[in-house]
Amino acid sequence: MNMIKRLSPRPGLRVLVTAGASGIGAAIARGFLEAEAKVLICDIDDGALQCFARHHPEVAVVKADISDEAQVDALLEKTARKLGGLDVLINNAGIAGPTGAIDELSVEDIRRTLDIDLMGQFLVVRRAAPLLRASEAGSIINVSSVAGRLGYALRTPYSAAKWGIVGLTQSLAKEMGPDGVRVNAILPGVVRGARIESVIRDRAAASGVAYEEMEAQYLSNISLRRMVEPEDVAAMALFLASPGGANISGQAISVCGNVENI
Ligand code: NAD
Repeated sequence: MNMIKRLSPRPGLRVLVTAGASGIGAAIARGFLEAEAKVLICDIDDGALQCFARHHPEVAVVKADISDEAQVDALLEKTARKLGGLDVLINNAGIAGPTGAIDELSVEDIRRTLDIDLMGQFLVVRRAAPLLRASEAGSIINVSSVAGRLGYALRTPYSAAKWGIVGLTQSLAKEMGPDGVRVNAILPGVVRGARIESVIRDRAAASGVAYEEMEAQYLSNISLRRMVEPEDVAAMALFLASPGGANISGQAISVCGNVENI
């Protein structure tokens, strides 16, 4: 196989992207569609799903909340039926969770963040596992965060969930490796988009500084002094799913411009 083919996912790969209707998930879904994969995206937001499908009529869409066990079970059944199996799971869905001092966070907010950001990935992967074991190119790519390596002041539920995803990844890589399934995590840094704008806005308000000042603080903690583009994360996902990634498993790979602190 020549090197360029080695660096591209093979056409026809069957890919599920959770929360694929916008943000990072949408960039990953678009990347796999460009690589001629068969892609199914799920999302909780039906309007966003329909909008994505209007621009990409070849995609399959399923409305699902990945924190709801029954909806996840139905999602994986539909995935198996619509794609005829599954080769690559992009376990991407997650929310930012609350910002605040630990003693000011409500139990409800903490539980909701862990339910979506960590438990949701468990729910998806436990139903995807049999399909991936049956694949000849089974690969799980869990989307964590640099907050899953560095810790994140005032965002402890999110950070704890993202550390949990790294543990899920490394344990599953050991469990599923002998079945030929590779399991890796991508840890994005500060990714350009609506989510980071709202996080910066919240933190600026909590610290009593202007938005621009908080944004400059974020950039000053990144060696490359720039935000990550959703397509930078998509490129790593495509590489991990390609033959070039065939010997990479159990890794937590940062795509962050070398963030020193968040
Ligand atoms: P986003 O906030 O832009 O949301 C993407 C999609 O998730 C939306 O379409 C939304 O409808 C969907 N969604 C939300 N809750 C859902 C649920 N319960 N079930 C199904 N879909 C749901 O997200 P993003 O910024 O693209 O982030 C994607 C992933 O990357 C998340 O896991 C996030 O934690 C991680 N991440 C993001 C950043 C960043 O700076 N944006 C940094 C590090 C890690």
